[in-house]
Amino acid sequence: MLPTNPKLHNQSPQERVYLSDDMICFSDEDPEVTSLQDWKIMIIDDEPDVHRATQLALQNVTFENRKLTFLSAYSAKEGKELLAIAHTDTALVLLDIVMETNDAGLRIVQHIREELKNRQIRIILRTGHPGEAPDESVILNYDINDYKLKIELTRQNLLTTAIAALRSYRNINTIEQQRLKLAQTLQHLQQVQFQLEEYTHRLEAKVAQRTAALENANRELHRLAIVDDLTLVANRRRFDEYWQQQWQFLAHQQQPISLILIDVDYFKHYNDYYGHQAGDECLWKVAQAISSVLNRPTDLIARYGGEEFAVILPYTSLNGATKVAEAIAAEIYSLNIPHHQSKVSDRVTLSLGIACIVPQLELSPKTAIAFADKALYQAKSQGRDRHCVYWDSG
Ligand SMILES: [Mg+2]
Repeated sequence: MLPTNPKLHNQSPQERVYLSDDMICFSDEDPEVTSLQDWKIMIIDDEPDVHRATQLALQNVTFENRKLTFLSAYSAKEGKELLAIAHTDTALVLLDIVMETNDAGLRIVQHIREELKNRQIRIILRTGHPGEAPDESVILNYDINDYKLKIELTRQNLLTTAIAALRSYRNINTIEQQRLKLAQTLQHLQQVQFQLEEYTHRLEAKVAQRTAALENANRELHRLAIVDDLTLVANRRRFDEYWQQQWQFLAHQQQPISLILIDVDYFKHYNDYYGHQAGDECLWKVAQAISSVLNRPTDLIARYGGEEFAVILPYTSLNGATKVAEAIAAEIYSLNIPHHQSKVSDRVTLSLGIACIVPQLELSPKTAIAFADKALYQAKSQGRDRHCVYWDSG
């Protein structure tokens, strides 16, 4: 059944030719034709009659709403010149074999495929005499699409041959355009992928940066949580934590731990006399001096209370702890911080209470603290500026 096209209704059946689903029509005027580019057909032939006959046969033909335009060259030389400027949008070449030489047409085929690298253009070889026909090897070796004797080319044959070639050209072009679109899409996807990768890298770098900042902030928070603001040694919270930890650890190891509790003598008098700022400075100096005496990484000095400090000495006997206490007292003495309100010296001095114990899990960690506290009390009550050792009489 014929498709219904209102534009063709008034034409006689002889004026309409339908091939497959493509539309070919003979028409002098068609309003849609002007918007599309013409099919370019190049005739390369040294016989002017062939040009005229071909154009006459195909005049006023449109294929898929596109007119046919003819380009003419009358020798192989002219043909090459014309191809140079027009091969990219020429759909079909009707090519004579014998022109300047017997194989001039075949050389043009070679030129188109190999030098111009045009694989899309359709080529139909034509020859005037059967005797000039290329042998089988030529058809096999040269990329041609059809071969016709000129005497075979009636109007109907020419039309069928030309339309079949145009359809083939259109199909090849469609595939080529789709290939190009796919290539563009692929390129676009690769760009997107590249951008995504870049974005991911930037994001990862940012996350790493933020993570590092967060870790720094956490470290700083932790430091603030365990450091005494005034003296910059460990605070009471850190003391409690570390003492508990060492107590348990050395209970398992059955090794001694020593604790020295230290009080600055007559510090309230010092504060009242020299002022709070001087009092704060004094505490800072004392803390730093005690720190300087401790040289093992496991030893810890903490600010225990107002003017009280505590020193934790893991793996330390009473004898070792006593030596440390003496060294601390000597260090403070050598600081020579004047203290006119002290009743025991002309400078800042310390009272120290020492306890040493091998921790037991069934004992409270506070036991040893109480022992050191008793020793400190003893040192104070015996006149300050001295150290006392707790003797466990029980
Ligand atoms: Mg010829």
